[in-house]
Amino acid sequence: MIRLQALTKTYATPKGSVSAVDRVSLEVHEGETCVLLGPSGCGKTTTLRMINRLVVPTSGKIFLNGRDTDSVDPVELRRGIGYVIQQIGLFPNMTVAENIGVVPRLLGWDAVRRRRRAEELLSLLALPPADFADRYPNELSGGQAQRIGVARALAVDPPVLLMDEPFAALDPVNREAIQDEFLRMQRTLRKTILFVSHDIDEAVKMADRIAIFHAGRLVQFAPPDELLAHPADTFVAGFVGSDRTLKRLRLIRVREVLAPVGDRTFAMNAPHVSPDDDLRRVAALFLEHGNESLVCVDSSSRVLGVVTREAIAQRLALQDAQ
Ligand code: ADP
Ligand code: MG
Repeated sequence: MIRLQALTKTYATPKGSVSAVDRVSLEVHEGETCVLLGPSGCGKTTTLRMINRLVVPTSGKIFLNGRDTDSVDPVELRRGIGYVIQQIGLFPNMTVAENIGVVPRLLGWDAVRRRRRAEELLSLLALPPADFADRYPNELSGGQAQRIGVARALAVDPPVLLMDEPFAALDPVNREAIQDEFLRMQRTLRKTILFVSHDIDEAVKMADRIAIFHAGRLVQFAPPDELLAHPADTFVAGFVGSDRTLKRLRLIRVREVLAPVGDRTFAMNAPHVSPDDDLRRVAALFLEHGNESLVCVDSSSRVLGVVTREAIAQRLALQDAQ
């Protein structure tokens, strides 16, 4: 869907030339979320902005659906690409509905259609249209404004979304909430997404695959579990942190490691887990209650199986062996 081929951007500065992005090649599949992860200044924003041609590459190519974007009119190109940035940039003198309708209006949609689309997107982002459509940006919280930024990027239903640290300015509680909502939305929309972050936890949560950047270079491109299990070098290992096993546990659900109950017995007061719980919660319960296994039940308290320390260890080792 999106293919970068030896993409390079060099800036001439008074102190000599700076390689902002250095021969980056990667491919993002349709419907996939790829997180570009790395410290400040490593070339993430420059890479995004080359994709929608806000920055012109020094060399290398970008293909969108097999088409060299060099040969596409930039205005037409951007119509198929939604762009969300941290400094949302809502127009303060326009209502929420009008802000969402900016691009549809440029495309000549009539007022009724624009309004309908704005209301549809507000509902999708859990903001009741009756309450929010006619507010002005200064009547929104940070999290709400960020949701409007996402709605605006989705207005003409572009197949591709570029998101540059979209949730970085939010407090942790709001950030978690909007991440969860976004994941839920993405499950139905299946956009192809390039998402910039400098936060490993956010990357692990949002990404199908993570591209780690270091000084303009792509140093590893892998699914979260693989990245956490096998950092490519000491830079990546340092970036993902010493608690990477805990992070991996958060990625795995109880349903993936269930075993039959067999002849195990359980204390009356032992807590139950649900198939959707992640293994970090299970590990915490093991520690707290000093047991080696816990019963997994569904929402009607039917026993589905057990999760054991051994099964968890095996599941972690499985990836290590690959
Ligand atoms: P990130 O988004 O990962 O923080 P950027 O892509 O914004 O990083 O920047 C990568 C590098 O390129 C940095 O060293 C930055 O200073 C440099 N850079 C970005 N834009 C320009 C520019 N217009 N002129 C000169 N240097 C730039
Ligand atoms: Mg940036």
